[in-house]
Amino acid sequence: MMIDCDFPAAETSDTFTLTPIGRIASDYPDKFGIPRQPGLASAARATLTLAPAFADPLTVRGLDAFSHLWLTFVFHQSPTRWTPLVRPPRLGGNAKHGVFATRSTHRPNRLGLSLVELVKIDTHHGVTLHLRGHDLVDGTPVLDIKPYLAWAEALPAARSGFAPTPPPSLPVTFSAAAEAALLMRHDGDSLRELIRQVLAQDPRPAYHKNAQNTSERRYGVRLRDVDVRCYPITTNGLDAMHVEDIVVASSPA
Ligand code: SAM
Repeated sequence: MMIDCDFPAAETSDTFTLTPIGRIASDYPDKFGIPRQPGLASAARATLTLAPAFADPLTVRGLDAFSHLWLTFVFHQSPTRWTPLVRPPRLGGNAKHGVFATRSTHRPNRLGLSLVELVKIDTHHGVTLHLRGHDLVDGTPVLDIKPYLAWAEALPAARSGFAPTPPPSLPVTFSAAAEAALLMRHDGDSLRELIRQVLAQDPRPAYHKNAQNTSERRYGVRLRDVDVRCYPITTNGLDAMHVEDIVVASSPA
């Protein structure tokens, strides 16, 4: 995929050509339900397979000495049009902020940046990076990889505007049917943890959360090859998400 531009030697051009170095294969076949930032669902797995032009093992020599990577990618499932003001979901969709004051997926150039955990590098057939804790939908084109430098980039005291802390996390409960479905799977434990972490982020659209009588509404979140059927409940006066059933997805996302 090419983003339409030229790059004359003089570097005075206003447009640039960027070529994906690889694509993500992810636990998230669908955008719905993906946590809004990396690290919120550490159980989310992905692989990044480098395209043939970049799949020389020399390109990743020494990378396995780093535990975390910055991925620069394209929000390829977002439209190219953008607006100066956006409604950050964590503000309930009410307040508007400048697009450059948010991590919105609808932005000029559609560029995303995510800090992910590097689990291992496989160079047997080309180059494949195994990753965790990402927030990327399946098929996401990656433009660059950079090792994370905590001494240069970890600034816990930095001011973070309207997002000073991680979003609240909900309790998640599983029905007997859901537990039975997980017991049948070789990845049952890691899938349960992925479901718990994703639903704890309350994937419901902001306007649903503010609406009355939301308990009747059922939600389906696609993770790996399953549809997770769930709905909001209140236990001991606390909001929670309840997993009603986990069924193998019948159709591709
Ligand atoms: N960490 C990145 C950043 O700050 O640039 C992404 C933040 S963005 C708010 C995270 C959301 O992007 C996810 O919840 C998911 O819905 C969406 N997303 C992930 N991959 C995408 C893609 N390839 N195209 C469009 N949207 C995507």
